[in-house]
Amino acid sequence: MATMNEFERRRRERRMRERRRKKRIRAAIILIAFVCAVILIVILVMSRCSSNKPAETVQLGSDGTSETTLSPQNEETPTPVPTANPMTIPPASENNDLMDIIEDADQEKRCYLTFDDGPTENITPQILDTLRRYNVKATFFEIGSLIQTNPSMARRVYEEGHLIANHSDGHNYAKLYVSADTFMNEVNECYEAIKDITGEAEPFKLVRFPGGGFNSSADSYSPVKQECKDALAEYGFYYCDWNALNGDAEGRTKDADELLDYLIESAEGQDNLVVLMHDAAAKQATADALGSIIEYLRGEGYTFHRLDDIEYRSSSDSSSLGSGDNGSDTSTDGNSDYDTDENSNSDDEDSTPAPQRTTTPAPSSGSSGGNTGPIIIQ
Ligand SMILES: [Zn+2]
Repeated sequence: MATMNEFERRRRERRMRERRRKKRIRAAIILIAFVCAVILIVILVMSRCSSNKPAETVQLGSDGTSETTLSPQNEETPTPVPTANPMTIPPASENNDLMDIIEDADQEKRCYLTFDDGPTENITPQILDTLRRYNVKATFFEIGSLIQTNPSMARRVYEEGHLIANHSDGHNYAKLYVSADTFMNEVNECYEAIKDITGEAEPFKLVRFPGGGFNSSADSYSPVKQECKDALAEYGFYYCDWNALNGDAEGRTKDADELLDYLIESAEGQDNLVVLMHDAAAKQATADALGSIIEYLRGEGYTFHRLDDIEYRSSSDSSSLGSGDNGSDTSTDGNSDYDTDENSNSDDEDSTPAPQRTTTPAPSSGSSGGNTGPIIIQ
């Protein structure tokens, strides 16, 4: 009997031990599952954080690039979403000379790179690659008919965050400058092409005169151009010449080093720069020189901006001795002589104010009768 009880007791103990063991295993499994879940959650949270990071850097870079000390190797900076910057500059009806407005804006060390006569299949992409590499935004004064023959390149310019502005439809001086009406017709054609490419209802209304708008007696089209300025103002368009250039349309053909030298000389002593360059089909040297031009200007402390990004605080009240005859700029010998091609689509931009034009820093250009307070435009 005793042995029977003993046997029964041991069996019960064994069963209990077995039950305890199973319980422990179950607890261990639950613990492991819990730990796995925690690890999974941590991984998910971390991956979300890291995917947010690039967006921050893009934002940083896409606004003006001032402190973005991106090294040229940093190829991977996507620069999407062109944003229309609302600016506080005088309305075009009051003063539509953007060069004048920039000089009166009381801003420091800003550089506006501009490329005329594109888009082209061979040069524009090289320029875009370089701008992207240095995370620089620029303005492209494009020809309407070329936008239509090369829409994908124009779209790329826009999608990479640059400003597309108006450089007439055909760039043929003899047809363009018959009258203010013929000029405005081409401006409108080009504007429609820009609308189609950008999908914007009202892109920034900015024109560069083929050949420049400088008021010069040496330019036979100058009288018509002065009438065109009024017509532009009437329709709300600004126009913009330049105060520095790489010389890629001046005189003989230059190599990349010579273009850099030309730029350095023409930019000397100026606080704000609007730099004329070309992305026409024959301007390989311009594409070659662009990287070193950006490095030079960045080294001089300039930041790069589109022409619809102007920090405007009028300085005219503080110090304007300017007897501002708008843009006359004593444009030295001015236009004419470079201008071999009256009707070609490219290679002009002649009218270049020679580098010495701007040896004086030339702030507060007086501009049109004391700009009243800034007015917001889109
Ligand atoms: Zn041009």
